[in-house]
Amino acid sequence: MKLFTVGPVEMFKEQMEIGGKQVPYFRNQAFSDVVLRCMELLKKAVDAPSGSEAIFLTCSGTGAMESTIINCFNENDHLIVIDGGSFGHRFLEICQLHKIPHTVVNVPDDQDLTREMIDKACEGVTPTGLIVNIHETSKGKLYDKKMLSDYCKEKGIYFVVDDISSFLADPISMKEDGIDLIILSSQKGLALAPGLAMIIVGPKLLAKSLAMETKSFYLDFKSHLKNGERGQTPFTPSVRVIHELKNRLEMLDIMGVNNVIRNTEEIAKDFRKKVKELGLDYPKFALSNAETPVIFPEGTADAYEVFKKLDSEYGFVVNPSGGELASKQFRVGHIGNHSIEDNDLLINAMKEIMGK
Ligand SMILES: *Cc1c(COP(=O)(O)O)cnc(C)c1O
Repeated sequence: MKLFTVGPVEMFKEQMEIGGKQVPYFRNQAFSDVVLRCMELLKKAVDAPSGSEAIFLTCSGTGAMESTIINCFNENDHLIVIDGGSFGHRFLEICQLHKIPHTVVNVPDDQDLTREMIDKACEGVTPTGLIVNIHETSKGKLYDKKMLSDYCKEKGIYFVVDDISSFLADPISMKEDGIDLIILSSQKGLALAPGLAMIIVGPKLLAKSLAMETKSFYLDFKSHLKNGERGQTPFTPSVRVIHELKNRLEMLDIMGVNNVIRNTEEIAKDFRKKVKELGLDYPKFALSNAETPVIFPEGTADAYEVFKKLDSEYGFVVNPSGGELASKQFRVGHIGNHSIEDNDLLINAMKEIMGK
């Protein structure tokens, strides 16, 4: 089996070996040292400004999305929510549930997000923050980070980024992009088992959050920050995944995060070139290096049939698209343990299935 999905993704053997071992005890200095090292390397990987803190939550990425909203914002705030697909829509639902005032910017499926779309949706609104999934994974759409960052600076509002599926695929810097908080999750570009979500919060939003009351016991930043000072978590963390994380971050630190991103970019570009050669296509909007939505034009093949045969006959798993798009496209992930040779394996399998 080989995963060409966006999460969980194909893992590296070093972290799989850790996953095969006895889970060690964690209320001791040895584990504290592991956590503290992870925090330090993670902050470095996202170029966090000084005074930033890392928070490790034992939940999937959505838990960190909800935790961020309830720890950083309340009824006195007004959030701009970019809704261009199912992950953006999730932020909207979280705001609705927790009664956080918000304005939605809808992004049409075939278009890039523009400043004009935001200005139009936010006419007469005084926002305090903007929250975005920088790569809307359900569409493969990468938003313009510079435009969003400039907008937030101009308005003097908090800039919150869910970077879960874009981390290690597209460049990001909290300092340069003026990001106040970044959300990450173990099962995407980090290529670890699911179960660990990470939040890196910059000094400005950290101060705001510490002054707020949070109506959640498990997801409260304050208890995590307090325990985090000594490298611990308030509750039993995903110990095994944190050990995998330390190993992965140390490998990344040696390779250089920018080199890893460049490698993912090369793989994505190579795959897209080969997709065109097969007579297939991909969207015109800006794409993340993390994945390619593969479009099957009229008269080529049924995307859902190809998806099924890739799995049953070759053991290659790609992400099917939902609803009416299912027979017209599927999505191929480039994050995790992948190479140009893997692209060739997948493309050749698609070629054989399509009878070319
Ligand atoms: C995968 C993903 C998440 C998290 O999803 P979970 O299933 O909760 O881990 C959040 N945002 C984006 C953009 C994602 O791609």
